[in-house]
Amino acid sequence: MSVRVRFAPSPTGFLHIGSLRTALYNYLFAKHHGGTCILRIEDTDRTRLVEGAMEEQIKSLEWAGVVFDEGPHVGGSHGPYTQSERFDLYRQYGMQLVKSDAAYYAFDTSEELDAMRQRQQAAGIAPKYDRSAMRNQFTIGEHEAQRLLDENAQHVIRLKVPIHSDVRFHDAVRGDVVFSGREIDDQILLKSDGFPTYHLANVVDDHLMEITHVIRAEEWLPSTPKHVLLYEAFGWTPPTFAHVPLLLNPDRSKMSKRHGDVMVQDFAKKGFFPEALANFVALCGWNPGTDTEFFSMTELIEAFSLERVNKAGAVFDYQKLHWMNGEYLKTRAPEVLAEELLPTLVTRGFEYVQPAFVASVIALVRERVHFLQDVTDFADYLFGDVLSPLSEEAAATITGNEALITAVQTFRSGLNDETIENLDAFKELSKNSAESAGMKVGAFMKPLRLVLTHREVGADLFGTIKLLGVQRCGFRLDAFFSS
Ligand code: GLU
Repeated sequence: MSVRVRFAPSPTGFLHIGSLRTALYNYLFAKHHGGTCILRIEDTDRTRLVEGAMEEQIKSLEWAGVVFDEGPHVGGSHGPYTQSERFDLYRQYGMQLVKSDAAYYAFDTSEELDAMRQRQQAAGIAPKYDRSAMRNQFTIGEHEAQRLLDENAQHVIRLKVPIHSDVRFHDAVRGDVVFSGREIDDQILLKSDGFPTYHLANVVDDHLMEITHVIRAEEWLPSTPKHVLLYEAFGWTPPTFAHVPLLLNPDRSKMSKRHGDVMVQDFAKKGFFPEALANFVALCGWNPGTDTEFFSMTELIEAFSLERVNKAGAVFDYQKLHWMNGEYLKTRAPEVLAEELLPTLVTRGFEYVQPAFVASVIALVRERVHFLQDVTDFADYLFGDVLSPLSEEAAATITGNEALITAVQTFRSGLNDETIENLDAFKELSKNSAESAGMKVGAFMKPLRLVLTHREVGADLFGTIKLLGVQRCGFRLDAFFSS
């Protein structure tokens, strides 16, 4: 049987980084097995819908390289799979369970349910529907239940959980899992407005869409026994479940905004490469079994397996992600990066923005930054001639420094096409310049950088001077003398 998996987001907000990882694992697993990955929109909870959220989520998924074979925005005859368009179907299946005695009518008002929860809280018991104490077809009797239904009284349909037995299933990540029937709530399947809950719609769809593996976040694990009971009640074979570990903050709390970005679009805006983010996220909770850290999407597809997904929560290491992005930055063609950076440079009003020059600047400085956009500030002295003012401290080290003035003078007069193009000639000139003022060459390079760039740190100085050229360097050195 060929593998069919689904990513089933609810359009209640933008795409969380954890959801991207779930989607990615589904995609990698499907592609590894030559199977199908579908997108299904689970919008049963009408109160939590956020306008435009689904479009944004799909955009983020596509940006990160996760594409679906079936579902919304996919050509061909499959999809869109949107649960709100299938409500009648879930109702029919819900009613089928009432007929087969696997589900039942309950007529409790919200006040009655609140009172039940308060009683349970006061008694220190976990909140759970108390079937024998509430108003349902068992406690009020079939006749009364029928009378209420005939009167169109508000009601829901609940799953009849077999209290005295255990629910067992095998999870591809967590191994054998057992829940006692006593722990499982008589879950509402159809709400009083006739709409299904997540649980009913999810199981019906997974069955009808012939899903073979349900790969989802660990937070859904407590829902799974309810789903297993539903499969049993319908007489369907359940899929293989795989609950992937939570993403954690560095302090091991559940990943949240307090520690940094959590929405995929924030990562995109920040300037992360989609390939770097996908690579990084794939490694949060899955290990390839080797030391390899860099994977293209094709390599991830080849290497991915559920057996290597960890049980333990995965710490989301922002620092490592930044580093990884920097590594991706080093592998990109500078010409392509230059195209990407140009609009920013133009908006900022820089003068030296010829694509070939920008590409050379990127090639020179990318070792020192993690994001392409950082190149702009890091190398602003290359893109323009207006230098940021020297700090007082820095200025004090160079102004009125007689030895430095002598060394710079020698350097200035030796500056020509040869000494800026040829590293040996440049070294020779630097040495001679320093010695002419009785300085060590090492002690000369730092103030020379300050004079030329107004920065204490920067990219390789020879490379910088080469890119500036004789004329621009000359102007800056002259400005130093006249300051
Ligand atoms: N709609 C659920 C969610 O928002 C899907 C959970 C599942 O994959 O079953 O995550």
